[in-house]
Amino acid sequence: MTSREVTTSSPEETLAFGRRLAGELKAPALVLLYGDLGAGKTTLVKGIVSGLGLAREDEVTSPSFVFVHVFGDGLRLYHVDLYRIEQSAELETLGLDDLLAEKAIVLVEWAERLSLPAPAAAVRVRLETVSDQQRRIRVEGG
Ligand code: ADP
Ligand code: MG
Repeated sequence: MTSREVTTSSPEETLAFGRRLAGELKAPALVLLYGDLGAGKTTLVKGIVSGLGLAREDEVTSPSFVFVHVFGDGLRLYHVDLYRIEQSAELETLGLDDLLAEKAIVLVEWAERLSLPAPAAAVRVRLETVSDQQRRIRVEGG
């Protein structure tokens, strides 16, 4: 995956960017999403999940309360949200390395709550609120 930066001007544009990213993900893949509340992490996940054909956008909601949602049958995708984690933890402690070992795609919101080191091969996506409708999205690595 090539590094890039885009600025979207609506949730729809962020969804569309997520659908494009989906086409570049090859399992196993770890996608770490960084950014404040409202930066657009879940919106991007909706685009990725729908781009992979695993669920409709409206079927993707933030898994804050249950920690992880699973999509797919053949290709497994795990949507993890660390917002409510009390203390930062390592991938191994969270069991996320086991998910990757089964060749899944793992999307992690609030990746800043993961303690280092995160795997070098991870795709890092940093989202920032620029204005009410604008979000800067930087993709690195993969
Ligand atoms: P997060 O998961 O990072 O907390 P969400 O994706 O749940 O963020 O929420 C993003 C909010 O910002 C939504 O209410 C969405 O409608 C709004 N929004 C406005 N402009 C954009 C944009 N360009 N991209 C994504 N979301 C946007
Ligand atoms: Mg979210």
